[in-house]
This record gives sequence, C-alpha cells and structure tokens, in this order.
Amino acid sequence: MQTFKTPCPICDATLNLSDVEVTEIVSCPECRSRLVIGKIKSNQIQLSEAPAVDEDWGE
Ligand SMILES: [Zn+2]
Repeated sequence: MQTFKTPCPICDATLNLSDVEVTEIVSCPECRSRLVIGKIKSNQIQLSEAPAVDEDWGE
C-alpha cells in the first residue's frame, strides 16, 4: 500500500491518501471539498475538484 501526501487544491491542507485509485473521489477533512484523483505518477498524485452533481450521497 502506498501513501501519498498531497496538498488540497482548494484549501492547501495536506491530505494523506493511501490505497487510492485514479477517478476515486476523496474528501478533504479541512474544507470538505470533494476531490477526484486525476493521476497517480510514482510518488505524486494529482487532485482536482470533483464535479458537483454526478453522485447521489443520500442527502
Ligand atoms: Zn481542502
């Protein structure tokens, strides 16, 4: 299992992500933004803000 540290693109908090896959959606514990994993390349991971609408979170 690989662990990545990457800054949140929204609030710049450091996220620790482990065992994630491309296209997986994670949420930032600081700003609660939903972030989608764009690319994983060796030790780096690229995050971008997830589109707002496409999943039903039961709210
Ligand atoms: Zn954040």
